[in-house]
Amino acid sequence: MSEIHGLAVHAAGAHLLPYKYDAGELQANEVEIKISHCGVCHSDIHLIDNDWGFSKYPFIPGHEIVGTVVAVGSGVVDRKTGDRVGVGWQADSCGVCEWCRQGDEHLCAKSQPTCVGRNGGYADRVRVNSRFAIPVPAVLESENVAPLLCAGITVYSPLRNHGVRPSSRVGVIGIGGLGHLGLQFAKAFGAEVTAFSTSKDKEAEARSLGAHHFLNTQDTGALKKVAGSFDFLLSTVSADQDWQGYVNALRPKGMLCVVGVPPSPIQIQAFSLLGAQRSISGSPTGSPRDLHEMLDVAARHGVKAITERFAMSKANDAVAKVKKNQVRYRAVLAN
Ligand code: NAP
Ligand code: ZN
Repeated sequence: MSEIHGLAVHAAGAHLLPYKYDAGELQANEVEIKISHCGVCHSDIHLIDNDWGFSKYPFIPGHEIVGTVVAVGSGVVDRKTGDRVGVGWQADSCGVCEWCRQGDEHLCAKSQPTCVGRNGGYADRVRVNSRFAIPVPAVLESENVAPLLCAGITVYSPLRNHGVRPSSRVGVIGIGGLGHLGLQFAKAFGAEVTAFSTSKDKEAEARSLGAHHFLNTQDTGALKKVAGSFDFLLSTVSADQDWQGYVNALRPKGMLCVVGVPPSPIQIQAFSLLGAQRSISGSPTGSPRDLHEMLDVAARHGVKAITERFAMSKANDAVAKVKKNQVRYRAVLAN
């Protein structure tokens, strides 16, 4: 028997309360991680509030985890006790389907999210399949790297896999946890970068993170002025947007990639897509392969999260502040 202690939500929108569960026998392919830090992603807020309708209560949120391996299952050969590792949205996959076989485990139909149907990182420890416990490069500080495990990979993976390069004109919409890392990675890819934000007080910091231009989306007509300007727009916003305005802001062959989760369906005029061969896409987290690569790129290009630290016991305060869009730019819980 192995008891894990954390903070769980027992009903939609409820406060986090102390909670413990028995993790049972350590499985052959699992590692147990003693958690030092866990980021507070907006997806945790959606799960706490059951915005997506599939939250299972009680559960411990948290899927931007950094910690130290304290136990390894009998079949684990690539991680050892004492390794510093990070865990993101995904804790396991089937390992044998077509997508797992080709290194796209994040697309596996049996993918297991770290804190849906399982308990996540607002806790002292967590267990995952060792393939999803990614070694963290020594130069990265645990507090600043924790948000890369979800926010970082979610913006890195589409920039990488949709071929963003020095000639690309990239826009990052919403400069929060995901967006402030999106600016840094887009700069690392060599693109010309524009920050789209509702918060004009973020301009100076957005520029220091890599934005060449800053567009205040609250200004009337702001989107119209940039019609036909971008090759790649990445929306990290959890609210409904002027989607047609963003599609119109794309150049021919441009793509609007949606990673934030707005509440309503997205409606677009077909002609605005087909005429200029534009497209809309989505992207979920990223594969373990891309996670390894993303952390390596972060280490070499100095990409890191700007964080506000909260004691693990103050997780409710962190959640409340994220809901008010007052965190600059990622709340991180520390044990
Ligand atoms: P966050 O830190 O709260 O940042 C979201 C940003 O969106 C805010 O900082 C704000 O930026 C902007 N925003 C908020 N409310 C807005 C509104 N009403 N209108 C316009 N802009 C608004 O959230 P996050 O952790 O980055 O997550 C963002 C979204 O991505 C969430 O929906 C989350 O569930 C989703 N997500 C998806 C994946 C995936 O795999 N696809 C992974 C992680 C997260 P400004 O102040 O600059 O306007
Ligand atoms: Zn997340």
